[in-house]
Amino acid sequence: MTDLERLRHSSAHVLATAILRIWPEAQFAAGPPVEGGFYYDVELRHRITPEDFPRIEAEMKAETKANHVFERVEVTRDEAIALAKEGRLAALGARPEPSKFKLDIVERIPEGETITLYRNGDFTDLCAGPHVMRTGNIGAFRLTHVASAYYKGDERNPQLQRIYGTAFKNKTQMDEHFAMLEEAKKRDHRKLGAEMGLFAMDPEYVGPGLPLWLPKGTAIVEELEKLAKETEFAAGYVRVRTPHLAREKMYQTSGHLPYYAESMFPAMELEDDGGARASSPHSEASSLGTSSEPEGRMPSEAGWKPALPIADRYYLKAMNCPHHHRIFAAEPHSYRDLPLRLAEYGCCYRYEQSGELFGLMRVRSLNMNDAHIYCTEEQFADEFRAVNEMYLKYFSIFGLGKYQMRFSTHDPEKLGQKFVDEPELWKKTEDMVRRVLVESGIHFVEVPNEAAFYGPKIDVQVWSAIGREFTIATNQVDFAVPRKFGLVYRDRDNVEKTPLCIHRAPLGTHERFIGFLIEHYAGNFPLWLAPEQVRIITIGDDPALADYAKAIHRELRASEVRTDIDLSNDPIKAKIADAETAKVHTMLVIGHRDLEAGNVSVRLHGKGNVGAKPRAEALAGILAAIRERRG
Ligand SMILES: [Zn+2]
Ligand SMILES: [Zn+2]
Repeated sequence: MTDLERLRHSSAHVLATAILRIWPEAQFAAGPPVEGGFYYDVELRHRITPEDFPRIEAEMKAETKANHVFERVEVTRDEAIALAKEGRLAALGARPEPSKFKLDIVERIPEGETITLYRNGDFTDLCAGPHVMRTGNIGAFRLTHVASAYYKGDERNPQLQRIYGTAFKNKTQMDEHFAMLEEAKKRDHRKLGAEMGLFAMDPEYVGPGLPLWLPKGTAIVEELEKLAKETEFAAGYVRVRTPHLAREKMYQTSGHLPYYAESMFPAMELEDDGGARASSPHSEASSLGTSSEPEGRMPSEAGWKPALPIADRYYLKAMNCPHHHRIFAAEPHSYRDLPLRLAEYGCCYRYEQSGELFGLMRVRSLNMNDAHIYCTEEQFADEFRAVNEMYLKYFSIFGLGKYQMRFSTHDPEKLGQKFVDEPELWKKTEDMVRRVLVESGIHFVEVPNEAAFYGPKIDVQVWSAIGREFTIATNQVDFAVPRKFGLVYRDRDNVEKTPLCIHRAPLGTHERFIGFLIEHYAGNFPLWLAPEQVRIITIGDDPALADYAKAIHRELRASEVRTDIDLSNDPIKAKIADAETAKVHTMLVIGHRDLEAGNVSVRLHGKGNVGAKPRAEALAGILAAIRERRG
């Protein structure tokens, strides 16, 4: 947890304290920090609305003013259960009803694990922490909205009220935050994306969360892919292509099934597997959970054939890694082949809950700037450093001055449960990652207990031009899954060894990254990314001007510059206003004087006229700015 997350999570305790002062019967479930703030889930007969916020905030204020210490108390499981039964957890004291959600949580904690309670004033909560020292450390807070959520996200469970708020060290920081949110509303990627014709959602025919990239949005997509391909080629990556789906066995091996099944689209069941079953030595593995013959199918034309006991199952891929692992496995490797860097803009599908879908930021189809680097332990530090340098190179291209790497490590107490049981490898890889980060002078925070199951991970947070934080990309070390897939290389000593794998996606997904860029640039993309880079505008519709304009148009198009031409007889002011509305980056305005001098008058979007230039000079300048990807 970062300092700010700790502060915000502590605010959730203060929120619960306040709610209980007004409604002592409230039953609390979970209250974690989230992006931009915190929430606490509460079950309460009274429906909390924003009208209640001032009253709740006044009680919160009293609690922060009292400056109570967050006091940590260790208890046994039996003690915690007894307290929950007396209604004393997430409560101000004993109550007639048990603290039912807390009771459920305690009962699921394995015997022998340390259980902690935290107290602030009269309020006691079951919580692993950490918190700030005192309630008075919360300098500024505000409740923002209420949503509904099922206990543990499962619709079979009771529906709870999710009370959201945010908190900061001081009021100045909070005021800046809300001013930034105002600006972000104007830059909302859903609003600008529709106005600029970048992407469309078609829930009725295509499905929710499955964006369609329109021609102008596709121009941005392809520029990003070009950037990635050039950068990765220079860094020694090779490109691969993989199908969008795979058999069940793939995801049983990778561990996605059953643990990640909820985030995957349901399986496609096939009766005829095209003979793959016969050649698969482990086909029994996929026959678990026998399903009956699907109903309502027509008998095949070939006549009767024996019904397969189970259908073969295929899944849409939620990640590209397993396919890349199979590419590694497709050929024998020796240490001389390593590092092997397999890159692909891979298209994945994730079944996000429909309530969670949000523009391009939360979608069900994702095009990921993915690559997997297979390397030896000796090569790891250099590879990892090179990946970080690639991130920094991208940040400078996009003008991202503020970023942070969040280094998530394991918790030695949870080896074998939350984290793969390889204490030596955890220590070794975490030390290597930490050393590289320190040596590269990269700004990072270390967050214990949040690593991936199979290795330490780095989430990269960036701040848009208006100061809003986004988690864009991840960079993970994996020392477990290559072993599960039986990946090996033959080392110098002729012994088979398992490679380490680095998962990295510096540009994240097209969906999330472009959503971010729309806000970052407020839709005013730099020349190299602009959907319409240049528009040639004639003053009037004189045929001589039109010929000159068409010649320039042809010349730019021949260099693959996305150029349009406006030869209409509309007033020049209207033509320019039209191009400004469309956020065309560069306008080349042509009148009789320009034609006679062999010039063009250059106008830049949002900046106005920058003067007449000889045609060749202006066009060379445009090509150079695109080639150099100038901001
Ligand atoms: Zn807590
Ligand atoms: Zn991966």
